[in-house]
This record gives sequence, structure tokens and C-alpha cells, in this order.
Amino acid sequence: MQQLRRVRRVYWLSFVLALVWCASAQPAQAQERTLGRTLQERVEFTVQSVEYRFSEQLDFTAEFSSTAIILEGYVFYQVGEDERIWVYEGEVTRNRLDIQVLLDDTNQPQVFANIRYWFRIASDHGEFFESPSYTVYYDDNRFTWQQAELPPFRLLWHSGQLADAPAILGAARQGVARLQALLPLADPQPLTLRVYEQAADLQRAAQLAHYPWAAGHMQPGQGVVLFAQGAQLERQIAHELAHQMLYESLGAEGYANLPAWLREGIAIVAEGEADPQAAALVRAAAQGSSLLPLYTLCGTLPTDAAQAHMARAQSAALVRYLIEHYNKTGFGILVEAFARSGNCIQAPQAAFGVDMLRIEQDWLSTLTGETPTTLAQVDWRTVGMAAGVAVLLWGLTRLVARSGRRK
Ligand SMILES: [Zn+2]
Repeated sequence: MQQLRRVRRVYWLSFVLALVWCASAQPAQAQERTLGRTLQERVEFTVQSVEYRFSEQLDFTAEFSSTAIILEGYVFYQVGEDERIWVYEGEVTRNRLDIQVLLDDTNQPQVFANIRYWFRIASDHGEFFESPSYTVYYDDNRFTWQQAELPPFRLLWHSGQLADAPAILGAARQGVARLQALLPLADPQPLTLRVYEQAADLQRAAQLAHYPWAAGHMQPGQGVVLFAQGAQLERQIAHELAHQMLYESLGAEGYANLPAWLREGIAIVAEGEADPQAAALVRAAAQGSSLLPLYTLCGTLPTDAAQAHMARAQSAALVRYLIEHYNKTGFGILVEAFARSGNCIQAPQAAFGVDMLRIEQDWLSTLTGETPTTLAQVDWRTVGMAAGVAVLLWGLTRLVARSGRRK
């Protein structure tokens, strides 16, 4: 790697300022007018490259041939969807420009995203010449990644200990099938499953990927999901896949409209067999009247460890109950109703004629062995007929159509 003797200035410009500068730039072969003469200065960028060490530094190099005397050179770059343009000045030596960008807390690029970059050099007459733009994928290259594929999944891992990649990919596929048995969702979009050996390495990558972490997992829709190795890996993969597939089918807004307990409950149920300890915990809490009220689980789940554990167990138990009582079709309509309305309590009212507080009560009565209220005895299809078959079909076809329409 080419080492730089020094880096003179480091800064980034606002988008607007950069645009002004762009407007004043010349293409690589420019006609320059000075003192009434017309000179044909020719500059051609011949070779370029970028190398990087994750979270430490980026090294850009460009070589060019030039009839002008080049005194200064810069790299400009833009990361992912971010509109900011970063600009760094480099060192010009004999038709070559080297720029070393040291990364710190102020300028970490988003990882798992493309960096679009281009060079600009300046002649002794103050003319600027700009290269075409190039793209590099900014990866976590702290490790040597191995990979295996089973479309739509790509599994990456860096430890030699990941014994059974095909089994893990197979489990991911099973997770998809399990979720599709619960809800009419389309197959997932291509997704990279990246497995870290150490949780701390995963946390660093997640931070630099700008993945917001909530309740122990990241916001879906990024195309990459990160995991730490462990005994529960296959269940974790199925869990995160469920979040991804819900997100892809419902869209960002529909997904955000789902109550936290429903999103999390579906993902836990998609993991596979119910955890008998969690089920017992919920039953005991119901009998001791210490379950968390459902309306407190609408926005986010609690962060306190014990409460979070209870909230997850409760969410999963309620989702299992709903699937059992409303079956796949009814449950799909219920999910669609939440996605559409965003009202955590009233959402089921239109299709089912009851609100969520009522459904919660009926669920509780099955846990405590009390006499169920009228709702639990009502077949959802009867309710559906009352609400109108058209409404139900409309909801379902909308859900499926949206799944199919996703990129
Ligand atoms: Zn989750």
C-alpha cells in the first residue's frame, strides 16, 4: 500500500458548497483560456484504486497523464444514501495522487454500503480536472470471510468453527416456510446473513452500519443481518428473517404500524417450537394477575431485562393464541388491519367487531381457566361474514399483492 508522506488538509463540504465547486470544475480534457490565448490542456486519468482497513483508514490512489503542471489533488466521496460529500486533499507526485483518509469518530463511513468517489486535480493555472466516478463496496474487512449460498440467502462467517453452513442455510429456508405457514407473505428478498464470532465485533459493525438497535435486534430492510455465533443461531436467524419478511411485505410504514408485541410475537413464533418455560411463565403470571397490560406493549417492549423477558413470552403466547383461534386467514387479516390502521387497540374493530382489549380478555380467560366471554366462542368466520366477506378478501389480497410487488 502506498504510504503518504503527509496529508495537508482534511475537511468535508456541505452538499451545496460541493455543488458550487462541481459547477466550476472542468472535464478531464479542458480548454483553458488565459490572457487571450487558447491552450489545449489534456489530462487523462489512467489508473485508480482504493484500499481500506475497516474503521481505520481509506487509501485512494489515482494516476494520470497531463500536459498541465498539476499541483493539487483531492478525492471526493459519498457513502450509501448519505448526501454529504467528503473531500480530502492528497499528495501529488509525478502524475500520481495519493490520499490517505484516517478514520475516527467524526468520519466513519457507513459499512455494508457503496462508496462513490472521484478525483479532482488542479493545475498551476488554477484549472481543475475531474475524473469519472467509481464505486467500491465498503465491507468489514477486519476478518477473512467465508461464504456459502442458498438463494435468497448468502451466509458469511469468519471463524473456521462454523461447522455446518448448509444446515444453517437450510434452517433459514425452514424459517421462511414456517412463517409462510402462519401468514401469506412472499419469499424474502436476497439477504446476507453475517455471523461474527464475538458479540463485540458484531456490535462495532452494527454501529458503523448505522443499524438502529432495538430490543436486541436491528431495523430490518438493510439487506444484511448480523449474528453472533451461539447455540441459538438457527432460531435467531429464523427470528430476524420474520422481521425482514414482515417489513418487506408490509412496507416500512405498515411494519412500523404493527404493535411491538405483534412484531416480536410473530418473530418468536417463527423461531420454531414454543419454549415450555416461557409458556409456564405466562400462565403463572396470568394466574397471579401480573401479566403486563397489552396496551403497554404497543410502542416498544420494556428495556428492563425481567420485564423484557416477560413481554416477549407474553407476545409469543398471545400470537400463538391468535393463530389458533383465527387460523392463517384470520390472523393475516388481523395483521393487515394493524398495519393499515396503526391503532394498537382499535385495529381489529372493523374486521372482527371487537377491539384488542376484548381479545386480550378472552386470551386471559383461556390462561386462567375462567369462563370465556362471548368472543372466544365466536368463530372468526362468523364475525368475518358480519363485517363483510369483501372486506376480508380485500385485506388479504392487498397483503399478498403487496408481498409480490416488493422488489
Ligand atoms: Zn425480534
